[in-house]
Amino acid sequence: MNKLGIFMNFWEKNWDADHSRYIKKAAKIGFDVLEFQAQPLLDMTDEKLKSLKSLADEVGIELTYSLGLDPAYDVSSPDEKIRLGGVDYLKRIVEQIGKMDGKLLSGVSYAGWGTPPYVLDDKRPLLENSLKSMREIIKTAEDNGVVYCVEAVNRFEGCLINTAQEAIAYADEVGSKNIGILLDTYHMNIEENSIGDAIRLVGNRLTSFHTGENNRTAPGRGHLNWDEIFGALAEIGYKNRIVCEPFVMQGGEVGRDIHVFRDLIADTSEESIDREAAYIIEFEKSMMQKYGM
Ligand code: MN
Repeated sequence: MNKLGIFMNFWEKNWDADHSRYIKKAAKIGFDVLEFQAQPLLDMTDEKLKSLKSLADEVGIELTYSLGLDPAYDVSSPDEKIRLGGVDYLKRIVEQIGKMDGKLLSGVSYAGWGTPPYVLDDKRPLLENSLKSMREIIKTAEDNGVVYCVEAVNRFEGCLINTAQEAIAYADEVGSKNIGILLDTYHMNIEENSIGDAIRLVGNRLTSFHTGENNRTAPGRGHLNWDEIFGALAEIGYKNRIVCEPFVMQGGEVGRDIHVFRDLIADTSEESIDREAAYIIEFEKSMMQKYGM
């Protein structure tokens, strides 16, 4: 059965937090995977990394990591100083993940998070810069046994990879067994003509999968067609992780960066979010069962 995961910022309004608390919580609720932003790993000592990893092992949680890359480290930048700084920064993040025996990094991991604030008639030069950077970074990923996933995100969060087709083309151009592809239902709902077709297009190259509604509430709460989504995952024989990435509370760094300007859940108490997390497992398991996953 596919491993089911949850993104830490379902609960936390800031990107950094007490990771050990959420490792325990995710396990207690019944998840197999906890995902969080990778940047805070750079501020952790090796002892801290090891203690988080051993706690995760103890409670049966796999840790996976995501990035909304700080534009100060934009590896697609035409400014060579910024680009090279970004390459170094991302290599260091991959090394930290490697120290924890981590297997997966995803997100807006190939360019600064956001879109250029100027007229962009042709994104190819930015894409070329990103690819040049990634061919360097991927060597560190190979050395550390980390699969470096590119995530196709919607047009408001990035310009280089908006669709499954663009993710495949990018991965092909990097040409490494350690480059992966992540699809996310929230982003696909905006960019793809058909979510089912996008999943089938990536097929057995799909490394990881994010779930979230059209408005980033928990699956089943909005208007996405989950039969189409799980039907397509079953059709491609998808066996990898399914990590839910809902953002339902306004405020904090997360509210600012994800653009959550109202609460999307009636009760924002921790107990209520815990109950919603348990519902996510129940919903996703029932859909997997329905489609024989
Ligand atoms: Mn995502």
